[in-house]
Amino acid sequence: MKKTILALLMACALISCSVQKQIVDKPIIFDGERIALTKEYLLQRYDLNQDSPQIEPQMIVLHWTAIPTLEGSFDAFNNTKLPNWRPDIKNVSGLNVSTQFLVDRDGTIYRLMPETFMGRHVIGLNHCSIGIENVGGTEQWPLTEEQLKSNIWLVNYLAKKYDIDYLIGHYEYTNFEGHPLWLEVDEGYRTKKTDPGVDFMEKVRKATKKFNFKPVPSK
Ligand SMILES: [Zn+2]
Repeated sequence: MKKTILALLMACALISCSVQKQIVDKPIIFDGERIALTKEYLLQRYDLNQDSPQIEPQMIVLHWTAIPTLEGSFDAFNNTKLPNWRPDIKNVSGLNVSTQFLVDRDGTIYRLMPETFMGRHVIGLNHCSIGIENVGGTEQWPLTEEQLKSNIWLVNYLAKKYDIDYLIGHYEYTNFEGHPLWLEVDEGYRTKKTDPGVDFMEKVRKATKKFNFKPVPSK
């Protein structure tokens, strides 16, 4: 009898410990113009001529926005066209940056666009990857425990749903140059990234080890 009660108590503790999460839809503008710009991007950058902006997710890329608020981060992705504050990449395509998911500092998970539409968040690999942005990330606003838990939960959710081979931090993207998944046509088009930090990636990788993602190619 005692054993049964103990087992029950342990089961309850396990259930309450497992992180219960849900996805909140908070769509950015994805109108006909954005769809057209996305298809143009797929054609110009990757030589992919598609009828739709659909992708087949094979990779998850984690990011931070370096913007301390949810509103500010959302606004950066909301508009269809790239605003003037990113002139470094404006001459490449007018399509604004975006990711499929945005995680607030309290761990709330927002889905900004259809999971299998292409977002512009990582050079060379947008055609095959789902992006997760995290609000903050600068020295002043380090990513939170809640964000870590939500990223782990999201990686679980996505890896069960899609055939995901790779989990990478944005700072690792140039390691894929020369890899079959790398499709960027312009050798001069690169930006230097440090997000979402080595520590954060290590923690997410450790917690999602069971999926046996393929190792990031070495340079
Ligand atoms: Zn990034």
